[in-house]
Parts: sequence; C-alpha cells; structure tokens
Amino acid sequence: MVDLQTQYQHIKEDIDRGIQAVIDSTAFIKGPVVKTFQENLEAYTGSKHVIPVGNGTDALQIALMALGLQPGDEVITPTFTFIATAEVVALLGLTPVVVDVDWDTMNISVDAIRKAITPRTKVIVPVHLFGQCADMDAIMDIAHQHNLYVVEDSCQAIGAKYTHADGSVRQASTIGHIGCTSFFPSKNLGCYGDGGAIFTNDDALADKMRAIANHGMVIRYHHDQIGVNSRLDSIQAAVLDAKLPHLDEYIASRQRAAAYYDNAFANHPNMLIPARAAQSTHVFHQYTLRLVNVNRDALRDALAEQGIPSMIYYPIPLHMQKAYQDPRYQEGDFPVAEKLAACVLSLPMHTELDDEQLAYITQNVLTAIEHCKL
Ligand SMILES: *Cc1c(COP(=O)(O)O)cnc(C)c1O
Repeated sequence: MVDLQTQYQHIKEDIDRGIQAVIDSTAFIKGPVVKTFQENLEAYTGSKHVIPVGNGTDALQIALMALGLQPGDEVITPTFTFIATAEVVALLGLTPVVVDVDWDTMNISVDAIRKAITPRTKVIVPVHLFGQCADMDAIMDIAHQHNLYVVEDSCQAIGAKYTHADGSVRQASTIGHIGCTSFFPSKNLGCYGDGGAIFTNDDALADKMRAIANHGMVIRYHHDQIGVNSRLDSIQAAVLDAKLPHLDEYIASRQRAAAYYDNAFANHPNMLIPARAAQSTHVFHQYTLRLVNVNRDALRDALAEQGIPSMIYYPIPLHMQKAYQDPRYQEGDFPVAEKLAACVLSLPMHTELDDEQLAYITQNVLTAIEHCKL
C-alpha cells in the first residue's frame, strides 16, 4: 500500500544527517530540532501555533482536554472514520454523538450535524477523510450559530487547501478552533515512529494545550491542571524536518497517481472514483473506490494473487463497533456509512508509484473486476 523504503532512499542523506545530529547532541527530548520543525510547520501551514505531540490520537485528546468540557457534554463526529476520533471522546467521559456521512465525499454530513445538535452539544470533530476537507464553511457556520468548538481531525489531510466562500484559502487544521494531525509513518507527512501535532490560532488555547501536553505544567513542578505526557521526540522531529520541504512534491505525486487511477476507472459500471469536494483540494492519503455490484473479497483475493495489496478503510462504522455499543444507535441508523463500509476499496497510494506500477495495478483491477461481478 505504501513504499517508504524508496521514498527514504531519495532523501537518505538529509534524513541520516538529521538523525545523526540528534544522536551526537544526545538532546533526544526537546532538542532544538523540535522547535525548528515546529516553526517550519507553522510557516508551511500558516497556523499561528503548532504544538508537537506524541501522536495524532494524543493531539485529539489534548485538544478536547483544553476546552473545559464537563462529563456528558456531547461531541459530534462522523461514524465512518478511524476509531481514534471517538475513542478520545469516550475516554474523557464525554458523549460521542455519531452522525452519517455524504455518499460522494465520504465526509461528515452537514445536514446530519444540524439534526444531531442538542443543548449538550459542545464540539464538532469533522474528519477530513482520505485527504480532502469536510464542508468547513457550513460547519463553522453551525458552530458560530450554536456556540460550539470545532476540532478538525486532519490526520489524513495535512497540506489540503480549503477555499472559503469569500475566496480566502486556508489549510486543513487551521480553519477550526483547533486542528490535529498525525505523523504515523504511512500518513502524508510521516515520521519513523509515532508523532503528531496540534494547530491553533488562539493564544490562550495554545498555552493551555502546551501545558496539558507537558503534565499540566507551566512552571517546573507546578501542576495547575491534570495533563498528560505527550511529546514529539527529537529524532522524529529531525525526520519530519527533512521531509517537510518535500511535502508539496509528495502531494503532487499522490495527485498524479490518483489522476492515473481516475483515468483508468472513470465511467466504469462497477466502480465509482473518488468524488472531489468543491471547496477542497484532495491530497489523497487514500485512493478509495466505491464498488458497485462487485464481490469485494473476491476482487481483493484476485488482486492479491497478482501481488497487488488493497485495503478496506473502514469495514465497520463506529456505531457498530462492540466497544461503542449504545442503545441510542442500531444497525441501519446510518445507511450511507453502512453502505460505504460494505463497498469501499482502497488501492496502493504513495509517493513512489510510477507509470509502470500504475499500469500494472489498473490493468489487473480492470481484468479482475470482470470476474467478480455480482
Ligand atoms: C491516523 C489517524 C488518527 C490517529 O493518529 P495516530 O498518530 O495513529 O494516533 C486519528 N484520526 C484519523 C482520521 C487518522 O487517520
């Protein structure tokens, strides 16, 4: 699905030099490169504050911890996403309120958000799924109207650009009150272990989240609030600082591969290519087809026989997960998410796909699908 080895070979000298410098300095935690990377990421995204943390899940948790929420406060999140989005809500004693997504973009449905709002709603967590932004103008409007916070889960969408109705352009993570991203190795900007970051333009929230990420401490050994220990270590920061200058070219490579797939699969009766949201660029963390009248497992097996991996992101919506059973929700309540879970298929997507590989993958998909029709 990804080729991190070839990507590394192209930038090996920079990566190796960065890692070696950390080892030579032995500043493994809070080394100067963490600050350098933070500032470079602030410049790249246009976010006033970047707070590097241990991973994307921590980023979401720390963001929610900073908002002064009470147990039972409701957080609206899509049911078709990675589990981390709802997990931190539940862990903090808040109430996840899951809503359906749109069939075309697979992102959180704005109508569904409107219907889910109650007097206890405090936060909306849109997920910019697979690499394109949710409908942020509408979501921010709803938030202003109901006095809610918006925490963007941009773990899959770093570098995606959203054009507002007034023509201004902002990056994913910098539109809501807080944005969260992950540097998990396979993410669009991945390190060589775990890493994440929080984004905000709000000075007070930034101070609070910096303290929470550091045991709730501003002055050493004075703990004003309950915090956690969540840091981006110096070696990961060195890797990320070497990769950040390449992020735009990485995005372009992903978009080029997506265009190749689109071209091969457009108008096929058994496949819907990814729909593009009108206001957002798509940075293609995943290239995800929706299959129509296809035996998905048989197709995956046929592709695997030809050495082509494929993945199902995500096979079970949140409301149907065992750990998240809730009398409020039943199978059938979120028909779009359930339909997507049953028909999505993600193909290999990374920065190193060349025409030969893309031709091999697309030809095999086109051949295999003929034998897997329902
Ligand atoms: C990867 C991901 C996360 C979690 O990131 P980690 O760094 O693995 O903790 C959260 N939400 C979404 C949508 C993700 O894709």
